[in-house]
Amino acid sequence: MKSIFLLTIPLLVWSNYLVRIDNISKNDIMLLNSLGINTIENFGDATLALVSKKELVRVGQIKAHYEILDVEPMNNIYYIVSVEDKKTKEKIAEIGEILSVHDGLFLIKISDESKIVELNKLKTELKRIFFTPIVVKPKEYPTINVIRDTLIQQMVNIVSADTIITIVQRLQAFRTRYSTTDSAHACAQWIKNKFISYGFDSVYTETFSTSYAPNVIAIKKGVIYPGRNYVVGCGHYDCTSQTPTTFAPGADDNGSGTAGVLEAARALRNYQFKHSIRLIAFCGEEQGLLGSYYYAQRAYNMSDTILGAVNLDMFAYSTPNRDSLTIINDTTYINNLWLANYFSACADTYTMLKKKVWTGRRPQSDHASFSRFGYSAIQGRENLNVSNPYYHTTGDTIGGGFNALTMCYEGIKAAVATIASLAKPYVPTAIDERLSQTGELKIDIYPNILRNTPLKIDFYMPRTEKVYLSIINPLGQIIESQIINVSQSKITQININVNLRPGVYFVQLQERKNIIIQKIVVLP
Ligand SMILES: [Zn+2]
Repeated sequence: MKSIFLLTIPLLVWSNYLVRIDNISKNDIMLLNSLGINTIENFGDATLALVSKKELVRVGQIKAHYEILDVEPMNNIYYIVSVEDKKTKEKIAEIGEILSVHDGLFLIKISDESKIVELNKLKTELKRIFFTPIVVKPKEYPTINVIRDTLIQQMVNIVSADTIITIVQRLQAFRTRYSTTDSAHACAQWIKNKFISYGFDSVYTETFSTSYAPNVIAIKKGVIYPGRNYVVGCGHYDCTSQTPTTFAPGADDNGSGTAGVLEAARALRNYQFKHSIRLIAFCGEEQGLLGSYYYAQRAYNMSDTILGAVNLDMFAYSTPNRDSLTIINDTTYINNLWLANYFSACADTYTMLKKKVWTGRRPQSDHASFSRFGYSAIQGRENLNVSNPYYHTTGDTIGGGFNALTMCYEGIKAAVATIASLAKPYVPTAIDERLSQTGELKIDIYPNILRNTPLKIDFYMPRTEKVYLSIINPLGQIIESQIINVSQSKITQININVNLRPGVYFVQLQERKNIIIQKIVVLP
């Protein structure tokens, strides 16, 4: 196919090409990037690149096999479609033009947006192709231990099975939440009002397209990091079926995840955290992760620090003895194993959840939008070995597609524990009192009661700056002083190993005219 195409068409009359590159290594991707060629999507183990006329020659410089799939792609609409049954595969060919089949995935081109609803009537998972470059990031595996915290256990215990059922019933009652419908808009408004009733600091809808209902976002501001440094809990509220625009109850896909986001809001509302928390109900997921892509792209462009995103999608269906949650570490873009393991540890510490971490390529839900931009994200999903017969049908109702309440309930608890642990509960005490805190320098000193433990200090600065640190005893004597370079818009963490005798000390930090003083106690 490739050679015929290459020989018969004078390729250089166009200015942009959609190219599939096979068996490409990480080094090859780096090489491509250094040559100015942007990889825009991973297609199974192949990579799709948007290549200009000039760059086409350079693609040949890497040794991988490549194929030109289309010309002037930016004028067109493409989808990666994952399908399981044969019948559906045949139908896909009637809806769009199949450009490539790879790793069991179809790359199709559709003539206009109206074809999307036809694809949504089938049992398919869609992923839209966007033309922005994938963010290639070096591997980062934070290791964080989970230590049981009674406050987090309190939050987890607020999650209620009855409330989950009530929410899913209400969601079903919209008849459909298909992204383009009036009732999806009504549902967005209902979710927004729920968040407002829970007293969140900021609740708003985010419109990503005039054709679709919006994302709904609720923000809980962190005490130390009230800005763009946060943990995400999310799940899409839109759904589909054979009759998407009139009846699509979507109890499992994804009433379960929507209930998760709303229950997390109810469980976390009366607590304070060091980092901010954003709970997001996405729309446009069924049309190829449209809402979450829009959100994550903006977050990336605004240099947001996202400590981790927990995505809940389809986790309330089971067959006998398969009621264990799959924690998906999707490796399509980056490895998210640390977060999957962290979720698993939080589940063990705070819940009765049966679960298993799964690693592989599975970018078919909103977590993938975060990872595409280099953010750690996981999905909680029902057992991958169980296929829900009601998936994307009118039978996805409570009792049909939604039949495993315990897994859903425990899964939501585990999500609450993970979000709260990442955001770190904040407990104001007399000892923690900030004697003065001014300007843009934010610090977090912990623990503030020490015994043979190093003192850890987190700094946050909107610009690169030198910070002068001193530890002073009650007599005003400086016991320790250091100069620390704080990097811009990032959290800098330092450990201070000073041998302090038991007593009270003041940790003083100075940056330009700003001074922060915090008391610490060293126990005998
Ligand atoms: Zn879904």
